[in-house]
Amino acid sequence: MSEEEAGAKTPSAAALSEIARIDREIRDLRRRLEPFETRFRAEKERWEKENEAWRSAKKALEEARLEERALERELSEWEEKRNREEARYRAVKTESAAKAAEKELGFIIEKISEIEERAFEALECVERFEKEADALETRVKDLEARWRKTGEELEAETSRKREIEEDFVRERDELLEKLPAEWSRRYRTLVTSGRVEDPVLEVEDTGSGCPGCGGRLLPKERTALAAGRPELCRECGRILISVLR
Ligand SMILES: [Zn+2]
Repeated sequence: MSEEEAGAKTPSAAALSEIARIDREIRDLRRRLEPFETRFRAEKERWEKENEAWRSAKKALEEARLEERALERELSEWEEKRNREEARYRAVKTESAAKAAEKELGFIIEKISEIEERAFEALECVERFEKEADALETRVKDLEARWRKTGEELEAETSRKREIEEDFVRERDELLEKLPAEWSRRYRTLVTSGRVEDPVLEVEDTGSGCPGCGGRLLPKERTALAAGRPELCRECGRILISVLR
């Protein structure tokens, strides 16, 4: 094999460096989405929590209303009892009957004031829960509007990213097409294996090892890198290049 033929099978460091740059751009694009995703998740979580609290407050309010209504009913029953007892008291003929009616009336009046107190407390409870539920409703609607807005931003940002990424991928694929088949296959294998995030790495100092895994470089590999020829890391399989010569 002539030197020219051997050279034709080795891609230039510049072409590989360009591919590595595009890979970094694509990764940066993905990272730019992260703050939106984080904010969206946090906002939605907060909304879910407050929504749950609102649901509980509405349930508590409903129960307090039922309790209050039950006490109102109980109160009117005892008031009817009191009216009947008062009528009976006015109609008594003997002193002992009057005493018995008085005692009964006293008991009923005491019972009524006790129920009135409980009904008042229940009403206060209803009012408090109403206020709480109202405040929560406002907050929940506010939070919902916020996460929906962030969701829209995230969606817009995602489709913007997708468009830019498609351009980058196209550009990278064109560069890969121009590489010797063996090298573009290597690159694709590294990408699809998912083992490494960056298939092509630039070695800044040929004296040190692979910047990806720290694997050592043999002297002849260091020489090749220094001469601008790409090498493969024997440890992680990454394509190594040196752009500093
Ligand atoms: Zn390595």
